[in-house]
Amino acid sequence: MKIRAHHLLCINFFHGLGYNEKFIENLKKIVEKLRLNPKLEVEVVGECDDICAACPYMVDGLCKAEEDSEEEVKRMDVLVAKRLGIRFGEKLEAEKVLAVWEKFSPEDLKEICRTCDWVEECTKILREKKRERFEKT
Ligand code: SF4
Ligand code: SF4
Repeated sequence: MKIRAHHLLCINFFHGLGYNEKFIENLKKIVEKLRLNPKLEVEVVGECDDICAACPYMVDGLCKAEEDSEEEVKRMDVLVAKRLGIRFGEKLEAEKVLAVWEKFSPEDLKEICRTCDWVEECTKILREKKRERFEKT
């Protein structure tokens, strides 16, 4: 499975929203597969991936949601990869993919995801995850 770096975050904060039914179903299946196969190797990439594959905005292998989307999503990919200390092409096990949220703060999300419509919802989910983790310790 190939996942672009900023989608590692989207996977962690997926809350059932997406661009259309096909996109949502595909993302649900990917998240489920990762949960069921903790050792599955995921290649982290800086280009269109298995999530983009079902997106209505992917055209000729590029993100065309807005005029400058390709540059914007690459900016996000670079920031996420840098924070995780991984290079494009490296592999992460599914259980690590599902734990990347631990390395990000709500402030990080506000910067990385500043142009995404779902940034408020994802930030809220991150805060909840952190609170739950704190209560368990
Ligand atoms: S909006 Fe762009 S980066 Fe996001 S899933 Fe669609 S094609 Fe991929
Ligand atoms: S705010 Fe957008 S880009 Fe950021 S994790 Fe959520 S869905 Fe993905």
